[in-house]
Amino acid sequence: MKLIYVVIDGMGDLPIEELSGKTPLEYAETPNMDFLASIGRLGLMYTVGRGIAPESDVAVISILGYDPYKYHVGRGPLEAYGSGLNMRDGDLALRCNFATLGPSRLIIDRRAGRNLTTEEASKLAEAVNKLVRLESYPADFEFKNTIGHRGVLVIRSKAAPLSGKISNTDPAYERVAGLGVAKMDVRMILEDCIPLEDSESARISAALVNEFVWKSHEVLDGHEVNRLREAEGKLKANVILTRDAGNTLPKFFNINEWYGVRFACLADMPVERGIARLAGMRLIELPPPSGDLKHDCLIRAEKLLSTLEEFDCFYIHIKGPDEPGHDGDFMLKAEKIAIIDRYFFGSILDKINLEDVVVCVTADHSTPCKLKAHSDTPVPVMISGDKIKSDGIKRFSERYCQRGSLGTIERGTMLMPILMETIKAI
Ligand code: ZN
Ligand code: ZN
Repeated sequence: MKLIYVVIDGMGDLPIEELSGKTPLEYAETPNMDFLASIGRLGLMYTVGRGIAPESDVAVISILGYDPYKYHVGRGPLEAYGSGLNMRDGDLALRCNFATLGPSRLIIDRRAGRNLTTEEASKLAEAVNKLVRLESYPADFEFKNTIGHRGVLVIRSKAAPLSGKISNTDPAYERVAGLGVAKMDVRMILEDCIPLEDSESARISAALVNEFVWKSHEVLDGHEVNRLREAEGKLKANVILTRDAGNTLPKFFNINEWYGVRFACLADMPVERGIARLAGMRLIELPPPSGDLKHDCLIRAEKLLSTLEEFDCFYIHIKGPDEPGHDGDFMLKAEKIAIIDRYFFGSILDKINLEDVVVCVTADHSTPCKLKAHSDTPVPVMISGDKIKSDGIKRFSERYCQRGSLGTIERGTMLMPILMETIKAI
């Protein structure tokens, strides 16, 4: 029995008044997921646990069956690894965003208008790597832009190991018990990086990050790319916000050996790819997201069908509903969910044999439109296939999932063992 495990980024939501109390998933036309729901079992799931509004990396680690409190070491190292940078224990790795800095440390836009092209970002990254030198401590760095406004930074000390126990300069996220979580009341001010433990190594690491942020700001602010953006009425990408520092890679158990299966991953963002690679999954090559979700879904469906024979289990991470969730755009979020239903699920359902395949669909976290941020709201989950004893519920949504036989799964780590038992038992 094979497993197709689909994680739809930020799909979960809360009832929305303007949609007559429906969530975007409930409002969207999703005949294919509804069909799967009608033959499967439904439930809700806290992807990390009650009270934790997780970032994607924390949530993905959890729903792949690794306790994030035990294994999580900061998103920075995962992103760095997933985007191909070298990372050794003692190197300091951080997740970054190009953003727009105004006077008095005010962050005008955390994502520089969210229209920075990879070409622009590459030019800016090149200038930063060439012109910035860290002098507060003997260290080198490598900054790499990944997709759009996103990037990663690795600082390598020439003397003693660096520490990941430092705060974020990005005001939108904080660190709770070492995990990156979205802040609820955000003051959009560039924060100082401060040591989170009383150690020489944390003080040095924080000082290096602050030095990097201000020196790169000087380089970026006057850069030609930003002069052109300003002339076009766009926001400057003149500061690099840092978050989720870490100084080591997680030592995951190998998912294939642990469960006795062959796992493959279809994901396009560095962090999910990094996690999957560290877990021992085979990464299936995918082009970067094109901005056209329909096209991206068709490619994923095609890649899945063409590699179905080679592997037992597939972890497929689809982006789309999370961004409109952050913008509070519930219509667009519903539309993205409908596109995924139509072009991903619609392309595979008549080509896979549900006698031999279990399909699980869930989200890594909720991104409720009215909060415009991740929350701990439990996400819908379904486990479907011809051999699954159906709950007889005909729709896939938060409300319907509440009545399902899976109940409320209190921790995301509980899902993978359930899935593995399911594919082995039937
Ligand atoms: Zn996510
Ligand atoms: Zn998000």
